[in-house]
Amino acid sequence: MIEVAVVNKMINDGLVNVIWESQRCSPISNIKSKTISYGSHKYKLCVACGVYRNLNNYTPNAVSQDGKVSICKDCRNQREKGYYQEFIKNTQARWSSLKQETGIETCSLDEFREFCKHEKCKITNRTIEQDIENQSINNGLRLWISRKIPVSLGGSSHVDNLEVLPRFISHGVSGLSPAEYSEIKELYLSKMFIN
Ligand SMILES: [Zn+2]
Repeated sequence: MIEVAVVNKMINDGLVNVIWESQRCSPISNIKSKTISYGSHKYKLCVACGVYRNLNNYTPNAVSQDGKVSICKDCRNQREKGYYQEFIKNTQARWSSLKQETGIETCSLDEFREFCKHEKCKITNRTIEQDIENQSINNGLRLWISRKIPVSLGGSSHVDNLEVLPRFISHGVSGLSPAEYSEIKELYLSKMFIN
């Protein structure tokens, strides 16, 4: 296991070869995965725990360029244990409150969970599932589900009428410190230009 800062210094000093580098950041952690060789060993940067680990700590993945998944075995195990339970509980609660708010035309729980897995927030590019999985992100960027047409105008709780937004947009900025607000505003603006 090697820390990123150590590897970066070794890359600068020419002690380590970069074999492969991902083109984009992981939406979960904002880390770009990288595979390096050092002597006869190969190491890969895990996008979940953020440290370099020997390649044999990763399960094979045929479609990946270096033949391995981007999350180490330890992180994957942990993920499957804790987070799946949380996903089930959290989506059940959100679905129930959506139903209570309108009382009319609601999606099924299965449809709703599919929505939470696949629908991305246009600003942060994250899904509700990823939001549940990694809650360490800035509070204003945590995700909420909002209705395109509000209940007051007859909007339903069907998935077609739902969208995923960061909290700072759907709930305003009242709960944020000035520093949090300016950090979020910058991120928001940078995304606006990229997309
Ligand atoms: Zn890991």
